[in-house]
Amino acid sequence: MKVLLAALALAVAAGGQAASPTDTPAKIKLWRLDCGRLDENAARKWAWQKVPTPAPCFLVAHGTRYLLWDSGLSVRALGNAHPTAKLDRTIADQLAQIGIAPEQVEFVGISHYHGDHTGQASKFPRAKLLIGAGDFAALKTTPAPGGAAPPHLQPWLDGKLPVEAVVEDHDVFGDGSVTMIPTPGHTPGHSVLLVNLATGPVILAGDLWFSYEDMVRGAMPHFNSSRAETLASRDRISRLAEKLDAVVVVQHDPADVVKLPAFPNAAE
Ligand SMILES: [Zn+2]
Repeated sequence: MKVLLAALALAVAAGGQAASPTDTPAKIKLWRLDCGRLDENAARKWAWQKVPTPAPCFLVAHGTRYLLWDSGLSVRALGNAHPTAKLDRTIADQLAQIGIAPEQVEFVGISHYHGDHTGQASKFPRAKLLIGAGDFAALKTTPAPGGAAPPHLQPWLDGKLPVEAVVEDHDVFGDGSVTMIPTPGHTPGHSVLLVNLATGPVILAGDLWFSYEDMVRGAMPHFNSSRAETLASRDRISRLAEKLDAVVVVQHDPADVVKLPAFPNAAE
């Protein structure tokens, strides 16, 4: 009994509901949301820059608990307000279509601090922020690191909402179904998300790679925080994907994001 109570206390301390062996596992669903795009520019160097670059984000359902992974472009990109960054619909608008209110989102997890991944984070007024510890520390420096938009994450930087600064593999719902994995290199706290669907595992790879071409050529942007860490992180995730036979989704590659169904359909 003592052991059982200890396990129960641990589960509660970890923030999850205590699971009993008779519980049916929570149903996991994964939606790909349109969270904006960075428009094409034929004069740019890389193939991925010559076509509209999607800036997707993703909703994971664990039963009736929800995690938003990345939060796309800011609402300032709505319509034609910005020359190259475009947003057609807000995340909240898309969630409303599937009957989910912003207040129901328990976690906002971000792959990294760049502004095209954090734009609408603060629209989720009850969410705990899941962020790589290296990124959270970097956001507090002055000046802010290149490409970061600290105001997007102000409620968490101000301590008004809870933060999980992730330093090692983080089991989001406490049952192994969804894991945030640190993959530093693009930024100091870059992370990917492993989602174990009934049909097989999916890895949402953030900007670990920018395109499938990057995977083949080993290329990376000059502004990555560490080339060596990027290579080590890519190696780890490639091996993990092979071991698990996981689908890897390179988030900015238009040919890759379509591995997941078009909204409002979800992968299960
Ligand atoms: Zn990006």
